[in-house]
Amino acid sequence: MKIIAARQDALVERIEGEFAHKRQQLEHQLVRECEGTLSPKQFADTEELILLGQHSLNSHTRELALRVERLDAAMCARRIGMYGLCADCEETIPLYDLEIDPAEPRCFECRCKHLHNEMQW
Ligand SMILES: [Zn+2]
Repeated sequence: MKIIAARQDALVERIEGEFAHKRQQLEHQLVRECEGTLSPKQFADTEELILLGQHSLNSHTRELALRVERLDAAMCARRIGMYGLCADCEETIPLYDLEIDPAEPRCFECRCKHLHNEMQW
């Protein structure tokens, strides 16, 4: 149990670290895109930052925004004690999956279904 807890703590640290880093990148990116008409102060709200990023014409900014959203969702799940559980079926996501991407929101099966649904679009 101790080992699992330590591995989970390491995952949470990775999420928090990546979130802080990517959020800042996204902020800088958006400020640059708006050519200084927006000050970083206006992005105090992460949700707003993500929304703006998702509507950017720059694909790199949109990707960043998606990643920040995913990391934010993982931290949110952590706060409500749902971290590591699949967002669709609530099964435990294996640690080795989370170690590949600590912000992974779905178990393998649900991920496949999800991808399949997206491809039908
Ligand atoms: Zn699932």
